[in-house]
Amino acid sequence: MPFSSLGLSPALLSTLVEQNYTKPTPIQETSIPAILSKKDVLGIAKTGSGKTAAYVLPILMNLQQSVLVKNRQANVLVLVPTRELAEQVKDIFKIFSKALPQPVKTLAVYGGVSINPQMMALQGVNVLVATPGRLLELLDANSVQLSAIETLVLDEADKMLNLGFKEEMNKILAFLPEKRQNILFSATLSTDLENINQILLHYPVVIKIADDELSLDLINQVAYIVSPEKKGPFLRHLISQQKMKQVLVFASSVQQVDAIVNKLCKNKIDAKSIHSKKSHGNRTDTLTLFKAGKLRVLVATDLMGRGIDINFLPFVINYELPRSPKDYVHRIGRTGRADAPGEAISLVSPDELHHFEVIQKKMGKKVEIRETEL
Ligand code: AMP
Repeated sequence: MPFSSLGLSPALLSTLVEQNYTKPTPIQETSIPAILSKKDVLGIAKTGSGKTAAYVLPILMNLQQSVLVKNRQANVLVLVPTRELAEQVKDIFKIFSKALPQPVKTLAVYGGVSINPQMMALQGVNVLVATPGRLLELLDANSVQLSAIETLVLDEADKMLNLGFKEEMNKILAFLPEKRQNILFSATLSTDLENINQILLHYPVVIKIADDELSLDLINQVAYIVSPEKKGPFLRHLISQQKMKQVLVFASSVQQVDAIVNKLCKNKIDAKSIHSKKSHGNRTDTLTLFKAGKLRVLVATDLMGRGIDINFLPFVINYELPRSPKDYVHRIGRTGRADAPGEAISLVSPDELHHFEVIQKKMGKKVEIRETEL
């Protein structure tokens, strides 16, 4: 089914062409018509499935029919767990707002940066993308009103619950008008999420995209057995031998991430890190460099890796396995996005082999395991 049969306007269709979105992903095919007809939607879909555009496009369409207020009364609220995701969602809204006849102003607000510029920028905002804590601060300061919200989106709702935002979300819900459209996206359906769904959603259209319809089939997975002390040299060998130009490497701790970057740089392989001990500015700069293809290796911890959304990232390497199988799928999901295949390589030490079996079982996919000469 082409985008043109989903009820989107010519302005949006032309931006879709410009952005090389040739055909809707499964989640887009189902969500767009449901959201356009103002239904509540529960989408079970991971990053990489095209879920952001699945709600951004119909929301922008619907906003074109609304009388947009010019003060501090946002029309649409998108709650997200991390500032990186807030920036990404804002960017997608901005890209697709460009050609619209009625201008739409989108702003992302999140903690860890100064609040004053955000307070000023809230004037005239239509779409507010926010992390819960900072939004509450702005509400306390009376810098924004939520009484005109027509649509609420909870993106990566499962992560918001994992990161303990439930109480904050409840406080925010109390500021919203009762009559509104609710859209909830989550990678998994947990009991917690079921509870939220029951409070929030009104006869929702439930859309579940089977895992293998997502990006797993687009990812070539391979694992190498490497002892911990050989992982450094083997990583360098892989990067050079496979002529990797852009690779995201995951490690378990901040210290390990820094150690990997140091070693790579000493061996003249251009690398930078992204983790919670880095300032927001530093993280944004590093991500921008990496996204622009000007940084060869980005090394990250899980939490920071979550929000990284890069088009056509060709390689992901697990320097160590994550503890949770879910995190494994999340990590490798950075490659093989929407329409582009990618390669996920895991460096598994002999004592991680058992854990790797568990991960493969949970994921429902066997991974080819290769011995190494090193
Ligand atoms: P998301 O799941 O929203 O994080 O999107 C994953 C990536 O796929 C983003 O980089 C989008 O720009 C891209 N994308 C989303 N939908 C499509 C589509 N229909 N065709 C091509 N690329 C897409």
